[in-house]
Parts: sequence; structure tokens; C-alpha cells
Amino acid sequence: MELYKGNRYWPTTWQTNSMSLSRTNSTCDVAIIGGGISGMLSAYVLARSGLKVTLFEQGRIGNGSTSLNTGLIQYMSDDLLIDLAERFDLKTARHFYWASFEALDLLEEIAVELPQNPQLRRNNSIYLAADASELSRLGEEALAHQAIGLPTRLIDERELADRHHLRATGALMTRRDLELNPYQFTRFMAETAMERYGLVIHEDIQVRESDIDLNRKILVHGEITCQFDRLLLATGYAPLPFVRSHLPQMKLISTFACITQPLAKSRLIPSDCMVWESARPYLYFRSAMDGRLIVGGADEENTRLSAGKAARIGQELLHQVQQRLIEPSGLIPEFTYEAIFSESGDGLPYLGPHPHHPEVFLLHGIGGNGTVYSAIGAKLALQFAQGRLDPAFRYLFPGQTRTLT
Ligand SMILES: Cc1cc2nc3c(=O)[nH]c(=O)nc-3n(C[C@H](O)[C@H](O)[C@H](O)COP(=O)(O)OP(=O)(O)OC[C@H]3O[C@@H](n4cnc5c(N)ncnc54)[C@H](O)[C@@H]3O)c2cc1C
Repeated sequence: MELYKGNRYWPTTWQTNSMSLSRTNSTCDVAIIGGGISGMLSAYVLARSGLKVTLFEQGRIGNGSTSLNTGLIQYMSDDLLIDLAERFDLKTARHFYWASFEALDLLEEIAVELPQNPQLRRNNSIYLAADASELSRLGEEALAHQAIGLPTRLIDERELADRHHLRATGALMTRRDLELNPYQFTRFMAETAMERYGLVIHEDIQVRESDIDLNRKILVHGEITCQFDRLLLATGYAPLPFVRSHLPQMKLISTFACITQPLAKSRLIPSDCMVWESARPYLYFRSAMDGRLIVGGADEENTRLSAGKAARIGQELLHQVQQRLIEPSGLIPEFTYEAIFSESGDGLPYLGPHPHHPEVFLLHGIGGNGTVYSAIGAKLALQFAQGRLDPAFRYLFPGQTRTLT
């Protein structure tokens, strides 16, 4: 599947060669298919815990959707806690938000272990209210967060203008979120896990369903044979055929991103927070550590991608950013792309065992908060591999009724 059209930014920040070590046969505790941030987070966590892990990637590590991810990593998702509480129940919504909050710690903990910082830092997020009625909903949302101890608060128009130089009727601020370069993060995890924890990686291997024999727990592709105890599937927006029907809500749409030329430090906007909004389709922006502004949004129900359109929409997104700033600043686009993005209709990712194959675990962290979901998935994958999967997460399992038991 073609994932993007246009030119990407992250791969220009880290150049490396192929990571494949060997084409030999292996026996492992866990085989993983898919070397994006989902597969690699799980590979890292599992290998670090002492398990033998072999990972297969059809292209190069981190070059799928991970290389397009704009790196706003937040505990609040596109679906508000109060909306999830209505769709499912309060217990489920609270559990999910708290798991998302805790997932940030895992990402930070891993980043600290890597030999270089993958441009990860804690940052606050500001979620702008589209209008006065949205603002009153955000007030309810702030209370729902505070009731479970999340560091969220409402900010008014004046504080937005005076402290953050942003224009809106008000906003929600979520504190201690993360920003990161997902491409570097994934590549650094791969290199570190190979070196320190014996992770085996095979790049340029597209695993077909017919390569996998679940009865014999063996994967055979050309001259490579891998005997495994458990299998993790993290193939992003391209689930294998025997998985697809268990992700009934998965929907593909397109989204746009624009990365500007670097701005001088004094002109950085916003310098102290990441910004997104309650309007739909939404706009979001943040500054990267090298002074570029990363802008995204304008999601639409169309999967025919176009580089020309990406350049045009990129300009429009920058114009929209200027409208939300008290003091507009000169922004020159350097990278623009249109990309495939996946959402689940009910706002929850699919993370859990395959309904008919208990030795297979599915990691499809789809949705706007994909990175946080990949991190929740890595924790669950470790529990799964150790035979102690927490049933409290049953509402995320594919094929389950999506409510807490
Ligand atoms: C423009 C854009 C902006 C985004 N911004 C954000 C953001 O700010 N914050 C956030 O949290 N999320 C964001 N996301 C979502 C995020 O990119 C995804 O959630 C995340 O990258 C998914 O990671 P993944 O590992 O599941 O998928 P991928 O990165 O696509 O990895 C899957 C891998 O599996 C491999 N693969 C597939 N099939 C096979 C096979 N049969 N055999 C072997 N290998 C296979 C692919 O080559 C690929 O490398 C954004 C997405 C887009 C498109």
C-alpha cells in the first residue's frame, strides 16, 4: 500500500544502512512482523526482558507510517474522555485515559536508555476550543481528567493570548505530554536492542500469510526459517488477511503535513507547547528541536494521494496557523506530504490476542494517538509473552465487546 506522496522530513534527520544481520535460521520466544514504532517498541521491551526476539520488516525499519508521524505524543486522544464514557462506560474511559498517561512514561524511560536522545522532551499541549459551546464541553473534560488525577486544566482567552500568544476563546491544557522524532526513536531502539539484547532483525522480507504455519509455530520465507512460541503482528495499516476481519472498525483516510524551514529561536512558535484543536477537520502544530514548525491536519475521506495537493494544502495549513497566532510570523514550507492515516470508528486501538489463534498477538495502534497506543501495546505484548495478560484491557482486544468486564 502506498502510504504517502510528497517529501518526508524525518528520514533526512538520520541516515543509516540496512540493519539486517543474518539470513540464518532462528528459534525464538517471539517472532514479530512489522518494524515500525509498534513492532519495535514491543521488540525492545520483550528483548530487554530477556526474551529471544526475531523481527521481520518488508522494507527498512521505521519507514512506514512511523516516518510520517509528526510526533505529538499526548495522553488525551481525539475522542474526549467524556465521549468515551458515553460510548462505553465511565470505568472503561477512565482506564483507557490512565493507561495512555502511563504509556508516556514507558516512552521516556526507553529514550533515556538509548545512546542518543531521539529529540524527545516533555511538553504541554494546548487543545483550542473551536467556540463557546466547545469550551463548556472542555470544562467538563477538565473535571473528568482531574477526577482521576490527570494534570489537565482549563485556560481562558486571556491566558492563551498573554502567555502562549494564541488566539481562541479558551483551551484545555494537558501537562507532561511528549514530543519526539519517531523515526530516530525507532531506529535507535532497533540498533540498541540488537547490540544489547540480541534482537534479530530481517529487513526486506515481506512475510505472506502462507509463510506462517501456526500449528507448527514456524515461519518460512525463502531460505529463512524461524521457529517461534508466539507471534506478534504489527503491520500497521496493512493487516494480514487472517487479521483484517477482526479489525471491523478500521478505516483509512488521508491527512496532510507540512514542515517549515527552521525559524530563529526568538521567532519560534509556539515555543512552550504543542497545539491542536476541537474543530474538525483539525489543525495541529508544534516546533521541533531544530526550530522548524511541524504542522498537520486537514484530514479527509480520500485515499488517492497527491504530492501537488500536499504542497497546496501545506500552504493552507500554514495560513491557518497564522490565524491562530497573536503575532503572525513568516513561515516557509520545506517538506509537505499527504499520507494515509487510519482510525478506528470507536476511538480505541486494537491490541490483544487474535480471537481464534491464542498464540498470535495483534498490535494495531490505530488513531490520532497511535504512538501512545503502540506503547500500551508493548506493555501488553510483554504480559502476553509472559503468559500474564491483564484482563482489565479486554476492551481493547480484537473480537471482544469493547467494554470493561
Ligand atoms: C501524517 C501523519 C501524522 C501522524 N502524527 C502522529 C502524531 O503526531 N502522534 C501520534 O501518536 N501518531 C501520529 N500518527 C500515527 C502514527 O504514525 C502511527 O500510529 C504509527 O506510526 C503506527 O506505527 P506502526 O508501527 O503500527 O505502523 P508502521 O510505521 O506503518 O509500521 C508497520 C511496518 O510493518 C511493515 N509491514 C507491513 N506488512 C508487512 C509484512 N507483510 N511483512 C513484513 N513487514 C510488513 C511495514 O513496512 C511497516 O514498516 C501520524 C500518522 C500520519 C500518517
